[in-house]
Amino acid sequence: MSKLLSYTLSVCPYCLKEIPAKMTAEQGAVYMEKSCPEHGSMKTLIWEDSPENYLKWLEDGGIRTEDLPRSEEEVYEQMREGEFAGCAQVQPCSAALMTTNRCNMNCPVCFTRKKGDPCYEPTVDTCRAQLAFYRAHAGAGGLVELCGGEPTVREDLPEIAEAARALGFSYVQLNTNGLRLSESTEYCQVLKDSGVTTVYLGFDGVREGAYTTKYGRNLFDEKRRAVENCAKAGLAVVLVPCVIPGSNDDQLGEIIRFAKGYMPAVRGVYFQPVSYFGIYPEGENPRITIPEVIRRLEAQTEGEVKNQDFLPGAYEHAACTFQGIFLCDETGKLRSLNRRMRREKRTDGYRSIRKSTKLLWLPGNQRMLSIGGMAFQDAWNLDLLRIRRCSVQIIGRDRQMRPLCTKYLSDIYGNKLCPGIA
Ligand SMILES: [Zn+2]
Repeated sequence: MSKLLSYTLSVCPYCLKEIPAKMTAEQGAVYMEKSCPEHGSMKTLIWEDSPENYLKWLEDGGIRTEDLPRSEEEVYEQMREGEFAGCAQVQPCSAALMTTNRCNMNCPVCFTRKKGDPCYEPTVDTCRAQLAFYRAHAGAGGLVELCGGEPTVREDLPEIAEAARALGFSYVQLNTNGLRLSESTEYCQVLKDSGVTTVYLGFDGVREGAYTTKYGRNLFDEKRRAVENCAKAGLAVVLVPCVIPGSNDDQLGEIIRFAKGYMPAVRGVYFQPVSYFGIYPEGENPRITIPEVIRRLEAQTEGEVKNQDFLPGAYEHAACTFQGIFLCDETGKLRSLNRRMRREKRTDGYRSIRKSTKLLWLPGNQRMLSIGGMAFQDAWNLDLLRIRRCSVQIIGRDRQMRPLCTKYLSDIYGNKLCPGIA
């Protein structure tokens, strides 16, 4: 028998129609259950822990769980306070500029595009105008992410980074697969000199299995060379493993060990449990959720990092992120700087998140490592109460900021809820 926890709104993964959804608990896990009048009932894993621990996690992240909607009517009532319509409701901590949808890989799984999408690449002037809009909207303290596709396929990428720096952005992150960076230290130096501060590097593991299923070949050597070249050029690196059950969920501890070996150039490891949008195989979609990622981190580091070292995000929705901050002591062991406590939601909380991201992820010499992650939502598990608190947004050409998860959200055929690229 499943136990009802709360109600929310979601979408049908087949037709993307907005439908009510229930959060339920059963045998030590939390699920989302929903039903489309046309496409029937669906049930998706949300949280691999007891309902008590799930609600405690939300409380620790500043959510008053007693106020969660207990009926469909209550959901609509709460939603009326702010229209959803795919637009952002809160100030972003960080915003992504889509620089291109081209890529130098041809992966069978891709979150940002589907085969046959027309090429989209804004000019440097358009990028500058979008960044200027973001600055006016969010202030110069905002974090900038240059995204793709794969941004490094653009020869004029350094000009875009320069434009961001000229607008006063002190944190400019490049989201990349690292292939181009692995080829040349000089290229990394050019990026650094143009204003890129931080490389957010797709890094799925340290052994073959992490790469071959997803990309068709082993990319570990390229990833390692990219990290080494960034270190030489003075770029900060955050390793970003997409965690896929059965593919690389046994390598999380080894990824932490690898990261420690390249400190202080490597500033963090940011796990992303797999989500399903864009291109993905049909059929069974295996899932892993935040509590299971944390359990595996504790087990695979033999307790060097522990469950209680991790906190939910206090600005974005608590179910979206987890975060730990560690100091590497003289014996080479990670020591947690976090203390588990309840955090209050503050409307200006984005300011402190931006500040701490800069402290942790800008180039520096402190022996600190941040270990955390973000669970993106897809059409199966989309929770509009989470979307309303989204802190990572896309800078639209139409001068709209959009939550990242709704921007990329696609139905099972790859059709997007918000079509067009940025
Ligand atoms: Zn439907």
